[in-house]
Amino acid sequence: MTGFYAFIFDMDDQQYMFESMFGAASVGYWELDFRGVKKALETIASSGWHDPIQHLYDHPTFMRQAVDSMPVLKMNEKARQLFGVEETDMEGLKFGRFIPAGTETVVAANLVAYLKGESNFENETVLNALDGQPVEVLISASFPRKDGFCNTLTLGTVDISYRKAQDRRLARLEAELAHSSRVSTLGELTASIAHEVNQPLGAVMTNGNAALRWLNRDVPDLEEATVALRRVIAEAERAAQIIERTRSLAKKGEPKRVACELHDLLADVENLVHRKTSSMGCELVVDQPSTTVWLTADPIQIQQVLINLIVNAAQAMRGQAGRRLITLSTTVSGELATFQVRDNGPGFGTSSAECLFDPFYTTKDDGMGIGLSVARTIVEAHGGAISACLDASCGSIFEFTLPCAQGLGSRSFPS
Ligand code: ADP
Repeated sequence: MTGFYAFIFDMDDQQYMFESMFGAASVGYWELDFRGVKKALETIASSGWHDPIQHLYDHPTFMRQAVDSMPVLKMNEKARQLFGVEETDMEGLKFGRFIPAGTETVVAANLVAYLKGESNFENETVLNALDGQPVEVLISASFPRKDGFCNTLTLGTVDISYRKAQDRRLARLEAELAHSSRVSTLGELTASIAHEVNQPLGAVMTNGNAALRWLNRDVPDLEEATVALRRVIAEAERAAQIIERTRSLAKKGEPKRVACELHDLLADVENLVHRKTSSMGCELVVDQPSTTVWLTADPIQIQQVLINLIVNAAQAMRGQAGRRLITLSTTVSGELATFQVRDNGPGFGTSSAECLFDPFYTTKDDGMGIGLSVARTIVEAHGGAISACLDASCGSIFEFTLPCAQGLGSRSFPS
């Protein structure tokens, strides 16, 4: 089911035909008595109501009461079946029975559409069946006006529970695939992360021993011992941060959207990956943007995309003579941030740029071919786009865009 059909008849001549189509349609149709709601809206309007739309949003209880008392005049067979209503339940039935608590904003959106003079309004929401079970539906409300007044509200409801369940299943599978890909990338980084943690741990040992020596002197030097112990704490914190960054990448979690700042995100990526790239003989240059840039994103997923592109670049240049350079840069234009990972490797030969993003496409003996396809899923789920092209001189360029956080965008650093 992808849409609604509207049938308009001369009611006098075609009443019978209309009734039988209303009854037998595969869409659940409702007819609701709108007069009470209309009257309530008019009452508030007459008592100095300046901004009707704002008023609706500010007064969810008003909407609740309005809908609670809206009589259900008719339901076709499909609607009754969908919401578990028997013919005998129809007597005195009010629409409020079907509206779960907390969905007042959906109701508000419908009333706002009515107030704006629109003739219909469509949205997805959850209604309750008569026994209280939730039903996910696409609703299409029509406000047929006669002489400018609407007395009856017609509602079309289509069951979208199955489609929604499929969407959730797909989202879960995508999250699991993204996690496996992240764990496999982490596998690549294990040696360099272990090395990274060893450095502060070594410093902890050195400073701890120094502190002991200062304390074991005939006249203990408390000042020097304190300095050494402060270093112990600082280095232990550094090690903890490295472990935390790694743990975040390994963690299995629901994708989230939070406000994140680009500098922090790029710094985390650089910290996680720089040792790996240098152990592969590559120089990693991260060009931080000159402005603060806010994104609404899942920072772990965006880090995953960047780490994957950087590790791929390093792998592409494996064994290459001469300088192996990887540049990560970002530019912001309007409300869009563009990330670019560029290398001076051999490029991707005869493969078309598009097939690189196909699941399981790999040219590596030990490759899985899921990194780029997961990267595409992540970027697109964030409302961006990812692509690859060959550099005019040599090497590959992978580029992706992400929308900046609404209203935050980019701001220059105060000088
Ligand atoms: P995998 O790394 O397991 O092969 P990916 O999906 O990450 O999976 O990459 C798919 C393929 O894209 C790689 O096998 C490689 O052929 C190509 N590729 C990715 N990045 C680069 C790059 N920077 N330069 C050249 N080829 C690349």
